[in-house]
Amino acid sequence: MHTPNVTASADRTVADTLPPGPPRRPVESRDPATGEVFQRYDSADAAAVAAALARARAAQPAWAARSPAERAAVVRRFHDVLYRRRDEVAALISRESGKPIVDATAADVTVTLDFAQWTADTLPRFSRAPWQGVAGMAMWRKRVRYERTPLGVIGIISPWNYPFFLPATCVLPAVATGNAVLLKPSEFTPGSGAVLESLWREAGLPDGIVQVIQGDGITGAALTRAGVDKMLFTGSAAAGRKVAIACAEQLIPCSLELGGSDAAIVLADADVQHAADGIAWTRFANAGQTCVAPKRVYVEAAAYDAFVQAMQRAVQAIRVGAGNAVDTEVGPLIRPQAAATIAEQLADAVALGATVAAQSAAPAQDGFHPPTVLTDVTDRMRVMREETFGPLLPVVKVRDADEAITRANTSEFGLSASVWTRDHTRGIAVAQRLQTGSVQINDAISIVGMASVPYGGTKTSGLGKMHGMAGLEACVRNMPIVDDRFATWHQPWWFGYGTARLEQVRAFQRLAHGVSLGERLSGLMGTIRLVFGRKGSR
Ligand code: NAD
Repeated sequence: MHTPNVTASADRTVADTLPPGPPRRPVESRDPATGEVFQRYDSADAAAVAAALARARAAQPAWAARSPAERAAVVRRFHDVLYRRRDEVAALISRESGKPIVDATAADVTVTLDFAQWTADTLPRFSRAPWQGVAGMAMWRKRVRYERTPLGVIGIISPWNYPFFLPATCVLPAVATGNAVLLKPSEFTPGSGAVLESLWREAGLPDGIVQVIQGDGITGAALTRAGVDKMLFTGSAAAGRKVAIACAEQLIPCSLELGGSDAAIVLADADVQHAADGIAWTRFANAGQTCVAPKRVYVEAAAYDAFVQAMQRAVQAIRVGAGNAVDTEVGPLIRPQAAATIAEQLADAVALGATVAAQSAAPAQDGFHPPTVLTDVTDRMRVMREETFGPLLPVVKVRDADEAITRANTSEFGLSASVWTRDHTRGIAVAQRLQTGSVQINDAISIVGMASVPYGGTKTSGLGKMHGMAGLEACVRNMPIVDDRFATWHQPWWFGYGTARLEQVRAFQRLAHGVSLGERLSGLMGTIRLVFGRKGSR
């Protein structure tokens, strides 16, 4: 069994492991396969963050004053620049994160292109504010329009596992809706953040609207406390809690996309090889470092043996190696410490009785961990209680779907889930009972690549939704403007109280809410007197 000799803790953030004080160290772009450092960036301290915020505040009003069509045109140019530079960007992402070039090209670059296109197409419709009527008989004179005004400056903090796609898909709705953005990429993938900023600059976005500030968790904490108007945070639950506390103290909103331990439920009627191939990809792609991947599989007893055999075939065929080789399917983990955490979780499971049912071949090199399937697992094991952010997959035999649902719902996480079945009706019925942010049937992960579908977790997996209309809505203040059609006609509820008014109000109650036609009609005359009785001051 593969067990690199480095220790790390699963629930500490970088900020916890560093001494307090201003960041002095540069952050580095490092090839996870070789450890080679190929770029360094200065870390921003609190003063640098404050200066960036001042530049953003100065630039944002003019950007917000541009029409939605003008802003959409800049988003379209961002799309076109990214499309032109797509291979260069994918190569950088692959080199910096260790992921296979196919994944960097598909999951990071192509999906970002989709999101840019959708955002540019949707923004004019989202921003339109037609006048509408208002509910309630008493409000017949009113009309309302919903103005979506930008929040101002939005802070974005991103992780390293999808180092381009994740920050890009937060920046897109924020910028499109007229905000300025301060983006702190992960300290492990600063280059992917830097290239994102350069693409926006080339697209003609005014200076100061997207600024990347580099640094680790200390810089992230400084950004969270800098005085921005909202935080969009993606990362671990441990760091997300700290961001939420800082936002609560400042009474600013935050959206949190946090960790997960998604359940995959394989029903007895599933095509087991199809399910195994799908679960193998969704669990092990990106070296298992995907928030929204299946991390626990529950299989109905009748399909269990066939599923485990199918999983063995799928896992043994996976090619593990350096991300820059075009046929590599699973690369190294982001850092040797991450591989060591997975090795610890695996060792804990084996010590408590788990069986390694299948393992891919992998380079015997620091930072790599072979995709591994575990059976005979119990809920005492760390692999069932914690997020496994690497290529480990526990498979559990359950009596039936009811047991699978109950056990799936016991997790503190609730990011997403998947159900594998040929029977769509049964699959949907199972999905409806899962306590999670979303459910996919016969697939997983790909929901994150759907620009129009809202995405986000429940329980420890997060707060709020991003993507789709919900993602645009998360970046604006939705401000109703309510107009009265009659500029000088007093409202019937203004002062002038007395017995007559009370009777008129009671008549209105009967007309609006009476339970029989007779009762309603009995309120008609009193209501007419209420509405038309007074036109001026008392
Ligand atoms: P992390 O929480 O260690 O770091 C994420 C970001 O937060 C980094 O930029 C880091 O510098 C910053 N940070 C750390 N401490 C901070 C603090 N106290 N204040 C402000 N910022 C701070 O997470 P990670 O290791 O980069 O990413 C892996 C985690 O992210 C996993 O748990 C994964 O499930 C989760 N994730 C969730 C989603 C989602 O959409 N729900 C997507 C990707 C990753």
